[in-house]
Amino acid sequence: MDTLKEAMGWPEAGSGLLTSGGSVANLVGIAAARDGAAPERELRATGLREHPGQLVLYASDAVHNSVDRAASLLGIGSAHLRKIPVDEECRIDLAALSAAVEEDRAGGRCPFCVVATVGTVDQGAIDPVDSLADFCAREGLWLHVDGAFGAAVAFSDELGSLVAGIERADSLAFDLHKWMHVPIEAGCVLVRESEDHRRPFTAPASYLAVLDRGITPGGPWLAEFGPQLTRGFRALKCWFGLQVDGTEKLGRLVEQNVAQARELENLIRGHPRLELLAHGPLVVLCFRYRPDEGAGAWDAERLDRFNSELLADLQESGVAAVSSTRVDGRFALRLAITNHRTRPEDLALFVDEVVGLGERRAGADRHWPGGAPPVDGSPAGDPP
Ligand SMILES: *Cc1c(COP(=O)(O)O)cnc(C)c1O
Repeated sequence: MDTLKEAMGWPEAGSGLLTSGGSVANLVGIAAARDGAAPERELRATGLREHPGQLVLYASDAVHNSVDRAASLLGIGSAHLRKIPVDEECRIDLAALSAAVEEDRAGGRCPFCVVATVGTVDQGAIDPVDSLADFCAREGLWLHVDGAFGAAVAFSDELGSLVAGIERADSLAFDLHKWMHVPIEAGCVLVRESEDHRRPFTAPASYLAVLDRGITPGGPWLAEFGPQLTRGFRALKCWFGLQVDGTEKLGRLVEQNVAQARELENLIRGHPRLELLAHGPLVVLCFRYRPDEGAGAWDAERLDRFNSELLADLQESGVAAVSSTRVDGRFALRLAITNHRTRPEDLALFVDEVVGLGERRAGADRHWPGGAPPVDGSPAGDPP
């Protein structure tokens, strides 16, 4: 935890906990935010019903759904997670955020927390954390950063400035099992004030006495920092990973992947059959295949259907584990290079395979534009 705190620029006195992943790390951070919003009310004991106004939290439209789920689980309600519009680079719009907070206050509600995302799941966009830290300090709001995969950028000398400000957050969630290459499950949450971290999870129990000696000398129990009591030894694999690689090397691997993403971006841009739909500053690329004109008229719906079939082809081929998202409503193949074993030749191979599968499917589609099975009864999906 000390290694991670230091690498994230976190104060030594802050506390941290390894979790199953980013989802639980977000839950813990937002729980600390909720109970820290009005410590004197002891929400842990009294519950939200006793709170005088509806608690509201804020994040961009591109926030991960684990934050919706945290709002539900913590009794805030996902309807009270305000999703603020994003700019053309998919970052939260600060003016819209400020207006939303003001409107909620005017309506008697209680804004308490802003969630900044460092590396959105759809495009790898990075919210302006420094400006959000200023805003939260001015408004008396808790700043939680969801840096599930993007926080690893802090390890890089070259790119670290992209995530400047994460060290100013009240809590920071990230995954070791994404861009830090530790086997799943391994997430982490850091909280600036240890007291805030423990507030939601502390409940006295006679069977959890802290002794000076014995098998758990000195305390505190890790259960005071999160929802789990019995825990697996996650720290071992994380410690090994950090010992073997070290944060400097992890930073260089981040730089390597970002360079590979730019290279692949150029290959996609340069290919007549591929259309780049979005790219963030990191390693996420969204694109789709565009059949040539000879393949007939292609409306939006047919292109979406085609590309979703192509994605399944690609996954089933075993060539690459690409996922999907939507960009301005359009179905997109979504690719994120976070593998330390990816080599330059893999990028060209990937483009060849996607285009090859696309051509095959487009050939089939020419015969059955609606995806209808052929009349001769041969199995649907095989070209005649
Ligand atoms: C992956 C991810 C999560 C969830 O993390 P898990 O480890 O899957 O629980 C949360 N937020 C973002 C931005 C992510 O990319």
